[in-house]
Amino acid sequence: MIEPAYARAVDVPDAVRLAGGHAQARYLGGGTNLVDLMREGAERPELLVDVARLCGEISLRDDGSLVIGASVKNTTVAADPRVRAKFPLLSRAILAGASGQIRNMATVGGNIMQRTRCYYFYDEAARCNKRNPGSGCDAIEGFNRIHAILGASPSCVATHPSDMCVALAALDALVHLEGRDGKRAIKLTDLHRLPGDTPERETELKTGELITAVELPPMPFAVNAFALVSLAAALEVEDGTVKNVRLALGGVAHKPWRATRAEALLQGAPATEASFARAADAELESAVGLRDNNFKIELARRVMVHGLRELSGAGA
Ligand code: SF4
Repeated sequence: MIEPAYARAVDVPDAVRLAGGHAQARYLGGGTNLVDLMREGAERPELLVDVARLCGEISLRDDGSLVIGASVKNTTVAADPRVRAKFPLLSRAILAGASGQIRNMATVGGNIMQRTRCYYFYDEAARCNKRNPGSGCDAIEGFNRIHAILGASPSCVATHPSDMCVALAALDALVHLEGRDGKRAIKLTDLHRLPGDTPERETELKTGELITAVELPPMPFAVNAFALVSLAAALEVEDGTVKNVRLALGGVAHKPWRATRAEALLQGAPATEASFARAADAELESAVGLRDNNFKIELARRVMVHGLRELSGAGA
C-alpha cells in the first residue's frame, strides 16, 4: 500500500481547500471502506483529507425534515430517536447491514460513497473496467451471483453495496455537497450513475466535492416501514386503495434502484396481492439475469410482493 499524505480539515471550506480539486485526494471519514480499498490496491490516493470531525450533527427542522451531517456514524443515525420515530425505514435499513463494529465507525457520507463488492474489482489479476478502464469485465462470464439484474451494461454488471442508500432512495433524500464551485444539493437517486461505458465514474460528484449532509424531506404520509436487506418500502392505504407508496431495491443495480415503474402502477390501485404482483412484474420486466444471478429476478419480485403485503396489513 502506498503511503498517502494526510491532512485534517478544521471545517468544510478548509477540507475543500486542502483537497484542492486534486483527483487523487480522498476524504476520510470512518475509513471502513476506503482503507480496505487501499489495502487491495483498488484505491491509491495521494492525499487523505480527514473530515471525520466535521458535519457531525443531526437536526430536525420545524417543517419535519431531518438533516443528518455526513460524518454522523451509522450507529448514531440508527439509534437517534428522531430517526426512529419519523424515518424508521432508515434506522432498520442501517441495522440490517454490516456488523456493529463497522456501523460504529462508518459515516453517512462514507456509506453513500461505498464502492462495489464485486470480487473481481478487488482482484488485481482480474480484468475489471471499473478498476482499469478498457481492460474488460471478468464478472460477466465469471462468478456473478451478487451482480446486477437491472441497469447493467456490457462494461460492468456491479451492484451498489449500501443498504442505507436503498432507504435514502425510498425517502427522497437530498444530498448536500460543497466544492470549489460552492454549495449544491442533488437527489440521492441522481447521485449514483449507471455503469454505461464508464463504470469507473460512479457518482455525479465533481472532483473535490465533499458530501456535507443528507436531508430527508418530511414524509407526506404516515410511515409504516419495512426493510429487508434489498428492499425499502413505505405504503399508505386508504379504503383499500394505495394512496402513497415508495419502493427502492438494493443489490440489483449499480445504484440504489428506485422502483418508479412499480410505484406509478400502484398509485391509486387496489391494495391487493394481484396489484403488488403486477407492479413487481412491471418493474422487473427489463431485468436481465446472468449465469449465477438469475434467481435474483424472482427473489426481487417476491421481496417486493411480500413487503407490500406486510405493509398493507394483509399479513404474510
Ligand atoms: Fe469490474 Fe464491474 Fe466487471 Fe466487477 S462487474 S469486474 S466491477 S467491470
